[in-house]
Amino acid sequence: MRDQQLEREPSGRRCSSTQNLQADHIIEIADDGALTDPGNLQIFCDDCHRVKTLEARAARRQ
Ligand SMILES: [Zn+2]
Repeated sequence: MRDQQLEREPSGRRCSSTQNLQADHIIEIADDGALTDPGNLQIFCDDCHRVKTLEARAARRQ
């Protein structure tokens, strides 16, 4: 799943990094996002993914 998404998006969506990439769920699973829907996946580098996860967690608290 991650590899398929990397073929579609060879660089991070936020910072265009090509290092330490991983597939992120646009809508987190904890927020009822689709686990396997390619439309709910985006490529982030490690750093952006960490930031995004923190943002999602903060948004959930509001
Ligand atoms: Zn990044």
